[in-house]
Amino acid sequence: MSEKENSNAPAAYSTILVVGSVALDTVETPFTKVNETLGGAASYFTTAASLYNQVNLVAIVGSDFPPEHLNFWRNRPVNLDGLQIKEGRTFRWTARYHMDMNARDTLDTQLGVYADFHPIIPEKYHSSELLFLANIQPELQMEVLEQVPHANLSVLDTMELWIMTTRPELTEVIKRVDVLLMSEEEIRQYTNRPSIVAGVRQLLDMGLQYVVVKQGSYGALLFGADGTFFSAPTYPLEEVIDPTGAGDAFAGGFLGYLSQVAPQQDGHYAIDEIKRGVVHGNIIGSYVCEDFSIDRLRTLTIVDVARRYQSLVEYSHFDPSWCFR
Ligand code: AMP
Repeated sequence: MSEKENSNAPAAYSTILVVGSVALDTVETPFTKVNETLGGAASYFTTAASLYNQVNLVAIVGSDFPPEHLNFWRNRPVNLDGLQIKEGRTFRWTARYHMDMNARDTLDTQLGVYADFHPIIPEKYHSSELLFLANIQPELQMEVLEQVPHANLSVLDTMELWIMTTRPELTEVIKRVDVLLMSEEEIRQYTNRPSIVAGVRQLLDMGLQYVVVKQGSYGALLFGADGTFFSAPTYPLEEVIDPTGAGDAFAGGFLGYLSQVAPQQDGHYAIDEIKRGVVHGNIIGSYVCEDFSIDRLRTLTIVDVARRYQSLVEYSHFDPSWCFR
């Protein structure tokens, strides 16, 4: 489909490309249920990152996909040239959350048009500096890496389904990217190690620069191959309405922030920028949980983000001057 370049994108150093699922989600929490709402890893990421910068989205939807969702993105700095619309059914996902909303069960996954999808990255996106391989079949993530082999920073997300069913393919993708985002549970599933630190070590040894461990309502941990360790604070939310997509929104905040920052001369980002990016990820992830689907992101502004950023600085700062006598 052809789209005009959206001109209201904020100033940025790097362009962002995302490939992943766009879906219709049915989500049940202990308190309520929503049917066939806008979901999908790439949807959350795109909406979140477009708060910071233009986002180039590559995905596929079926002919049943509600046009209002496309119109919503058309009114933000989102480029839909890489979004295919195919005769057939949009990806559908159904899940139920427990009372502890860090835990959920996937009840149903229907790939729909994703079953025969092959991402075609428009020529003008091949030079994208920041690449997010959102949750999708690992073989498709590899097809993207083959078309965009020189991204300055490539970030990978995945899910239990792919760890369990396509582990060798997923392993090949992990070996090719710079940053891996995984929940604690996914790290245990993939590495078979009870210790997260040992699991992360195994992953870093595969060639990654960073592993970000998503800890749901407890924040995120950043581990670097250079020995970096950073514990990013969590924002204490009084009420979680729906945590779906928090991980993808995290990635949107992380890469959205980095897209506004100049890399160092060697092309890498300064570690303080990476840490700020993780904090932005936590902030956007926390906002997403305040409503169903992407709804909280519809009205979220960068001023809201700045306010929560200051709160997190305050909540996580402590006096370094204590010493043992
Ligand atoms: P998260 O809560 O960050 O794990 O992301 C949940 C989103 O991922 C939902 O909106 C789903 O539509 C999407 N999703 C769920 N399962 C898959 C899957 N196997 N592949 C791709 N996307 C998925």
